[in-house]
Amino acid sequence: MIKSLQEIPIRKTIGLWEEKWNREALIKQRAAIHETAFNRGFRQIPFSDELSLFKSIDKAIVYGVTYKDFIDVATPFVTSVDLSTKTRPGTVIFTFAINNDGKKIVVDVQRGSWTAPETAKMISSVYDTYNPLFVAIEDNAYQVALPEMMKISGYDHIPIVPFHTGTNKNNIEIGLQSLEVELINGLWIIPFESVHEINCGCGICSLVQEARAYPLGESDDAVMAWWIGKEAYREKSGSYWDVDDISAGNKGAARSLRGIN
Ligand SMILES: [Zn+2]
Repeated sequence: MIKSLQEIPIRKTIGLWEEKWNREALIKQRAAIHETAFNRGFRQIPFSDELSLFKSIDKAIVYGVTYKDFIDVATPFVTSVDLSTKTRPGTVIFTFAINNDGKKIVVDVQRGSWTAPETAKMISSVYDTYNPLFVAIEDNAYQVALPEMMKISGYDHIPIVPFHTGTNKNNIEIGLQSLEVELINGLWIIPFESVHEINCGCGICSLVQEARAYPLGESDDAVMAWWIGKEAYREKSGSYWDVDDISAGNKGAARSLRGIN
């Protein structure tokens, strides 16, 4: 009886490109990326699109451009952070821009397993690079210490917005699936200057891979950081921020709003 690819253990499969991807390299790669991405990229096993939440993620990808092609000097940026927990090793720092058309452009995704002081340093470095309006950091139980630590550790110039994840994550209108609605409507742009290799480990590729696999992938840190950024921006721009000033890219107005905390 012929087995489906899923049923054949990797140790019994034969690599088709021995020079580059021998068995050892394949096993290493499988450990480095999650199973779903590995199956998709290396075993021609797609998972059912029916199960995927972000079916339209590939609609956002634009090749041959960088984020700089979509912004001007006044374009506001937002940074968001999904912190690792005891059970999840990855921390992701996600930065996007909101252009004059209200489209959101993925600018930068940093990912790493950092200690709290290292994380603070990375957040500070991203802040200095992009000068975002604010940095939204999840403030759930285990993570509450970082924003507090940053305030007293010489990072108090960074406008940190605590973000609380709860039932909002699964809310039909504002939860993770609202990102798919935005993708369908062409509101997100993920620029790639060139095509990255399938096993590229860069932050933006990891976001795309996580989004394609969600909710079946083994990690969702980048997806979470993406959603936190989108939601924190919506909350801020919908309340005491003057959304017109921001979407018009009024730098002065955007700057004056940086005092918020
Ligand atoms: Zn990449």
